Amino acid sequence: MNNLVRIAVLSDTHAGKVNELPLALVDALIGMDMVVHLGDYSSGGLVNELKKTGKFRGVRGNHDLGDIHTMLPKKDVVEVNGRRIGLLHGHGCSFPRGLHKGLIAQFKEEKMDVILFGHTHIASSKVVEDVLLFNPGSAAGRFPARNRTYGILTIGETVNADIVNIAGGHHWAHNASIPEPIRYLVHRMAYDWGILIKNI
Ligand SMILES: [Zn+2]
Ligand SMILES: [Zn+2]
Repeated sequence: MNNLVRIAVLSDTHAGKVNELPLALVDALIGMDMVVHLGDYSSGGLVNELKKTGKFRGVRGNHDLGDIHTMLPKKDVVEVNGRRIGLLHGHGCSFPRGLHKGLIAQFKEEKMDVILFGHTHIASSKVVEDVLLFNPGSAAGRFPARNRTYGILTIGETVNADIVNIAGGHHWAHNASIPEPIRYLVHRMAYDWGILIKNI
């Protein structure tokens, strides 16, 4: 009988320090066995603070070009209770076969049970080719996320993945004069090109 291991799964915080994260999230991290961050911080300060907890694993995102680029790998694999878990930000995986196949292809050397990814700011949980693909959304509620979310992955005899909504909605200052479909398109293009656009 395996002990239950609870993993907080964060992504796209676009934050530079723990105290920039939502308080409810910081509280929740204290009770976790592991904390995973899937990239797009805003400075290495947050990485260093998370490392000090002694239970942190993380990868870098497309916005992590400065000090974080040398602090964190692009992808990583952790093993928990005999399950293989791949960590990847996920940018550049959609082409040419679509995001889900692209993610699985990144770990083709060894079969993963779970792949944790971020980048889209859209929380999702889906089994594809017998692999659980789990995106916790953006803990900062960055567009196009409508809410601030993170994930809890629980690994015992079975694997469970839950999305947690953090009350308070997102903090992105939208420019309401621009129609939402256009804002969405601009942001998706910007993510794919690795550019962060504010105030749109
Ligand atoms: Zn992001
Ligand atoms: Zn990204």
